[in-house]
Amino acid sequence: MRRIVRFLCLFLLLLCFSAASVAEAASQATQVQGVKSHVHTDAVTGAAKLRLVLDLNGPLTVPEAAVSATPLPNLTLSLPGVKLGKGVKASYQLDGKIANTAVFKRSGSDLALTVNLPGVVQAGDYKVFTLPADDKAGRPFRVVLDIQLSSAPLTKLKFSAGLKGKVVAIDPGHGGSDSGALGPSGLKEKDVTLAVAMRTKALLEKSGARVIMTRMTDKDVFGPNASNVEELSARTAVANNAKADAFVSIHNDSFSSATASGTSSFYYEKTKYDGMLADCLQEQLLNAGGRNDRGANTANFYVIKRTVMPAALVELAFISNSEEERLLASPTFQQKMANAIVMGLDSFFRKAAASGGVQ
Ligand SMILES: [Zn+2]
Repeated sequence: MRRIVRFLCLFLLLLCFSAASVAEAASQATQVQGVKSHVHTDAVTGAAKLRLVLDLNGPLTVPEAAVSATPLPNLTLSLPGVKLGKGVKASYQLDGKIANTAVFKRSGSDLALTVNLPGVVQAGDYKVFTLPADDKAGRPFRVVLDIQLSSAPLTKLKFSAGLKGKVVAIDPGHGGSDSGALGPSGLKEKDVTLAVAMRTKALLEKSGARVIMTRMTDKDVFGPNASNVEELSARTAVANNAKADAFVSIHNDSFSSATASGTSSFYYEKTKYDGMLADCLQEQLLNAGGRNDRGANTANFYVIKRTVMPAALVELAFISNSEEERLLASPTFQQKMANAIVMGLDSFFRKAAASGGVQ
């Protein structure tokens, strides 16, 4: 009997305790009180891992995570009933390589955190867990998201000669709400880049390559009036998700001085092949167009940096220069440029294969 009483007391005590904590939780909902992120490089494997930490004022079960490829690759954590505390921003910029941004979205009483990524992650690429509060260390309850990209495409590049069977991503610069540069007589860069890209696509397909276009009509790739990063990462995601062998972004140059002219190609040296691709394209564009040689140069442009395959951005000619604007509008010149891009790609794959293929 005494034992039963003791049990009953304990039970009532527990009941009171849990009722009190329910009441407390209702009056003071769990809040996100801080967001931190850092990138850690594994000393042994060299793999980079991004850790995103949410500081909370109370415990939470491990949030559910969902991966989606649309509208941009992302990973979303559900935080039902959680509120944003003072000083927590609606969005955070992340490292830009493993993840682009973390954005809080509220729907009714539920909160979600969407982490926008440069490409789709696999189940094994991320981990979500919680860490208890540690009063001694002055640490609150935490939700941790670790993202580590397991695919290492940059070290596994291997090329064979020829265009047959290759996957080539072609990115006509600008489009939709973004006209790009304008020529003195009103020619829009976005129309030239699309025209040349469509001609390039037709020629590549004739050579047996598979072509992935970031756009095939006059539209924004992400959506109208998107931020630059959203728009550009939508373009790199198209190429990365298609596992393209090479990426070419087509643009026209523009300058305040109307006399500036010529052709240039740009690359970001993330593999030994990026410069090779830009050189091959530049050589063929000069042969075909006969414009001023402004060289193949390195640049920090988003689309050539964030694509995982060898990538180059070509500036066919200056749309701000009347003579070159006329050329860029001409179907004959457009066809010459398209043909040069195809020949440049062909010579790139041949050189890459001859260089041993593997990085
Ligand atoms: Zn442009």
